[in-house]
Amino acid sequence: MIPYGRQEIDDADVAAVVQALRSDLITQGPIIPRFEAAIAARCEAAHGVAVSSGTAALHLACLAMDLGPGDRLWTSPISFVASANCALYCGAQVDFVDIDPVTRTMSVSALADKLMNAERTGELPRIVVPVHFAGLSCDMAAINVLAQRYGFRVLEDACHALGGSYRGRPVGSCLWSDAAVFSFHPVKGVTTGEGGMVVTNDSEVARRVTGLRSHGITRDRGGLEDPGQGPWYYEQQELGFNYRLTDLQAALGLSQLSRLADWVRRREALADRYDEAFAFLPLLLPKRPDRIDSAWHLYVVEVEEAKASQSRRSVFDELRAAGVGVNVHYIPIHTQPYYRRLGFRLGQFPAAEAYYQQAITLPLFPGLCQADQDYVVKSVTGLLR
Ligand SMILES: *Cc1c(COP(=O)(O)O)cnc(C)c1O
Repeated sequence: MIPYGRQEIDDADVAAVVQALRSDLITQGPIIPRFEAAIAARCEAAHGVAVSSGTAALHLACLAMDLGPGDRLWTSPISFVASANCALYCGAQVDFVDIDPVTRTMSVSALADKLMNAERTGELPRIVVPVHFAGLSCDMAAINVLAQRYGFRVLEDACHALGGSYRGRPVGSCLWSDAAVFSFHPVKGVTTGEGGMVVTNDSEVARRVTGLRSHGITRDRGGLEDPGQGPWYYEQQELGFNYRLTDLQAALGLSQLSRLADWVRRREALADRYDEAFAFLPLLLPKRPDRIDSAWHLYVVEVEEAKASQSRRSVFDELRAAGVGVNVHYIPIHTQPYYRRLGFRLGQFPAAEAYYQQAITLPLFPGLCQADQDYVVKSVTGLLR
């Protein structure tokens, strides 16, 4: 089966991890700050704080922005469930903003309408989490204008978009947001096995995430409430977690990062080939808005069932049967049983639901060889021509 995504691990990665394994500190050592600085530099952001997963990064960034009971967080229904779950971890309420059917990211006009209504009813969100779906940045400048107008904070779920850019700036620059989070799961742009990071230009957010990832404990003498006690002394100042990354993982991530630009170029070249091969099929292809360069995390096509002789389901089943590891990203979060029990129902976010009915994710990863891609193209074309 040709998978839809796969990590690339080379000898330099293995050597970097082995070297870290043989060093004195295999966690809380010197490679973590180097990895953090490298990601922050890549993003042109001031701070990077490494954590154990993208989910942990979302959770801690929300806490650092004081999300709590009585607050609201809004995100996109077309995302991994973690984009919404982070609000519930904090005791806050979650709600969704429908997608733009063309870009498949949060619709700015739907956001503007929902904010106008929420202002009237006194139910404005504290945080909005735009999701850079499939690697394509949301319209951050437009979202930032709304953030200024309505006073919410913006947390970018950039888990798909490391290596992408928006208006000439790398995704994660946080020029139009308060913070961005990345995941280093094996299918993402760069992997550490499991891992994540919060990047931000807000030193207070960085300081709070740093404390919260390690139990809410500080040893920083300048920050102690009772500094006079002695060199052994540390203070737990709030309730945190163990959400740390290890140095083994940071060593892998740092080694991987040196190849990110090549990988994004390779993904883009593969996407170009898909675009060309599928131009005349009854498929909706990924959109390429001006001044946004996707990181091409996923290549999602939508089967236009009215025009095609096949249903999405039959295309999916036939491709799987042919050894093409297609997938569906994502089941709209609000339709998950857990979210239905919170009161969400089918019909609330029609663009997201319509997208879900026709979406199929095709294989796309840097190591996808031309012959395998040709096989995917031939299989898809054979079904839909
Ligand atoms: C992968 C992913 C996450 C969660 O990251 P983990 O590292 O798996 O916890 C969150 N949001 C999106 C959009 C993702 O793709």
